[in-house]
Amino acid sequence: MTTYVWDYLPEYEAEREDIADAVETVFRSGRLVLGASVQGFEEEFAGYHGLPHCVGVDNGTNAVKLALQAVGVGPGDEVVTVSNTAAPTVVAIDGAGATPVFVDIREEDFLMDTAQVAAAITPRTKALLPVHLYGQCVDMAPLKDLAERHGLKIVEDCAQAHGARHHGSMAGTMGDAAAFSFYPTKVLGAYGDGGAVVTGDAAVDADLRRLRYYGMEDVYYVVQTPGHNSRLDEVQAEILRRKLRRLDAYIAARRTVARRYEEGLRDLVAPGGLLLPSTNDGNEHVHYVYVVRHPRRDEIIERLKAYGIALNISYPWPVHTMTGFRHLGYGKGSLPVTERLAGEIFSLPMYPSLPQDLQDKVISALRDVLATI
Ligand SMILES: *Cc1c(COP(=O)(O)O)cnc(C)c1O
Repeated sequence: MTTYVWDYLPEYEAEREDIADAVETVFRSGRLVLGASVQGFEEEFAGYHGLPHCVGVDNGTNAVKLALQAVGVGPGDEVVTVSNTAAPTVVAIDGAGATPVFVDIREEDFLMDTAQVAAAITPRTKALLPVHLYGQCVDMAPLKDLAERHGLKIVEDCAQAHGARHHGSMAGTMGDAAAFSFYPTKVLGAYGDGGAVVTGDAAVDADLRRLRYYGMEDVYYVVQTPGHNSRLDEVQAEILRRKLRRLDAYIAARRTVARRYEEGLRDLVAPGGLLLPSTNDGNEHVHYVYVVRHPRRDEIIERLKAYGIALNISYPWPVHTMTGFRHLGYGKGSLPVTERLAGEIFSLPMYPSLPQDLQDKVISALRDVLATI
């Protein structure tokens, strides 16, 4: 049997009755689209963040796209972000009609190097899009300062950071709007696709509700400005309501898994060898993925296959090097830290219900391989 970096089946086994009850609740409710479950989830997810507004949408990519559009980003605008992210971050900027502008990341934490953002701002810059990658937040103070001085909007990509905190503030509460994904692997995952945008701004909320509903006001059936069909599915919303009650427990379980890796591997850490993830001062990490580094990454991954362990890389190809984004003009060497780390990073299995014996197997296999490399 192969061990993968993610598996939802142990969790489903434990939560089967609740999930079945969620499905039954929606099917018996008499309303299958934008009903009580979407509304309930929106209220509860906003409440979890201490914010007044949440709009459920169909996935995280469209959450980013609609959030950008709702804060006023459109054709001709530039949005500053990173290339070391899930490609959908950048697909969403393109989908909003804007141009992505990349800054490099920091060697220590793989996150946006906020010291490079000022130089990336032009008269066309409309928004900053920090990605709270792998489960911990980008340094927000420098970004807030730049946004204020240049009149820019901030949209947080929180697809990997549900429940993370930064100097006490929750991810998603530090900008003008924040996008979440509920793709099944995420820290809060649905049983299919889902997404949401949270905001403290009533006007942004109203725009989002139109944008996800063809561009209509719910009641008038008249398109104000053409939008999309990007509604959160009612069944997924009811499942998410149930799982939201357990979100803090999932996060605690992820932290336990991270601590066991730390204990099992820290004596092997060496400069130029294995490096484990770190948590920045002021950050509360939620460990969406557990990303380690080694210069001989490819060889390690290959050798672990013989132990029945299949690892992932988040992400092997920086977005600016992808065929679909070559027209942006970022040649090889333009984001040196991003490009170098893409060749060294790999992810160990990480999910709340990861059985301890599987984790022990991964730790001991990795120790074996590293001893002979
Ligand atoms: C998963 C993810 C997305 C996209 O979410 P989907 O629900 O898959 O569309 C966007 N940004 C980041 C950083 C992600 O990890």
